[in-house]
Amino acid sequence: MIVMKFGGTSVESAAAIERVAEIVKSRLDRKPVVVVSAMGKTTNKLLAIAHGAISGERDQALGKLFELRDFHLRESGMERTVEQHFQELSELIKGLSVLGELTPRSIDAISSFGERLSSLIVTSFFQKHGIHAVHVDARKVIVTDNRHTHANPLYSETYAKLAETVVPLAQDRVVVLGGFIAATNTGIGTTLGRGGSDFTAAIVGAGIGAEEIQIWTDVDGMLTCDPTVYPGGHRVKRISFAEAAELAYFGAKVLHPATVIPAIEKNIPVLILNSRRPQVEGTRILSASIASTNIVKSIACKKKVTVLNIRSLRMFLAHGFLRRIFEVFDRNETSVDMVSTSEVTVSVTLDETQRLAGVLADLREFSDVDVLEDQSIICLVGEKIPMTAGVGARIFKALGPINARMVSEGASSMNIGFVVDSKDLTQAVQSLHEEFFTELDPAVFG
Ligand code: ADP
Ligand code: ASP
Ligand code: MG
Repeated sequence: MIVMKFGGTSVESAAAIERVAEIVKSRLDRKPVVVVSAMGKTTNKLLAIAHGAISGERDQALGKLFELRDFHLRESGMERTVEQHFQELSELIKGLSVLGELTPRSIDAISSFGERLSSLIVTSFFQKHGIHAVHVDARKVIVTDNRHTHANPLYSETYAKLAETVVPLAQDRVVVLGGFIAATNTGIGTTLGRGGSDFTAAIVGAGIGAEEIQIWTDVDGMLTCDPTVYPGGHRVKRISFAEAAELAYFGAKVLHPATVIPAIEKNIPVLILNSRRPQVEGTRILSASIASTNIVKSIACKKKVTVLNIRSLRMFLAHGFLRRIFEVFDRNETSVDMVSTSEVTVSVTLDETQRLAGVLADLREFSDVDVLEDQSIICLVGEKIPMTAGVGARIFKALGPINARMVSEGASSMNIGFVVDSKDLTQAVQSLHEEFFTELDPAVFG
């Protein structure tokens, strides 16, 4: 058995799903279990509709909902299924607009519709292509806690359900599951966090004892950088789990950070492949570390982060200053990515700024805070970085006049990260490529 996961762009239209059907058909001998994302940008649209509905824009929200319904109808031709789902969804949206409140639980209820629909649509396309496909509702097999919008799987329950339902079906049928969606023990819908279909694929792979997990997307594999930042990157043919996890964590959204965890535990190789160019061999993620003459394997970027410089002359040397700072982030449920300290300043980067006002108010009770917006994190990843002298010097030489802030070598020591102004991001990544990827180890790069 293998798991084949197809992301949003791979199922964005009827034509894309036809391509997916052909890819799956050519691999039936490996007993594929298929995990699919919502079609295209459906999840973003559902979330925008939900937020609109509670902000007094009920009619616009319903208008967008009908557009999304028409899109699903047009691409799938499955009138009854689509109508039924959108009927339920529009009731929900109307209810929300009356209440004027959006809880994490209702966000999950709404965002689940993308994968609920796409998985039914993909199953039907497969059947039309002569594939003996069967739909399994992911909410019946992936069990999580109740941390809505980023729920944690309860592994033993989930693995037991997967073994009971998916494994027997997969012997002579292609099981299709929606990614991202799950439910608690009591059957309340949850989701695994944005980009969570990769996580579903890894959980399913671990639960059924798959020999391989294939993540099909819209790029040739893991590249030396995000092609939307700088298009001149190279394909990484082989990378270790540890390096891939580091890259995912620091913004390479080609893979969800949690994906690799269940796969590592069971030693299941993960492949990243391009559904538009299935002949390309992609990237293989392996548990062993991979020798390479290149010190840096890839460069991850996080665009649009916010830096806070927190300063307190009075508190800095007093004990408890750091604790107080981090209590503020905890209380405001805001996670911090990078931290650096210098003299009397603690600098942190934030990914999400929904609760920035609360964070600032709390911090300003005991410190001065500067806010730097439009910043980006650049992170160079490679297992050899800690063993190699002079990497820092090469980075600074390559960056030339570009100012690098908050330079830090990660605790894992497998990366060096720093912050630049977003306007300098592309230039910085290009210069780093010229420094680190002019000569490529043919065993590792494609
Ligand atoms: P999917 O819908 O298939 O899950 P995503 O949009 O989540 O696809 O991930 C694929 C995208 O990840 C690519 O289109 C690319 O823009 C981005 N990406 C970021 N960093 C990298 C990287 N290092 N290598 C490849 N793709 C990357
Ligand atoms: N559809 C979900 C999202 O957009 C999950 C995924 O595609 O991985 O976040
Ligand atoms: Mg993704």
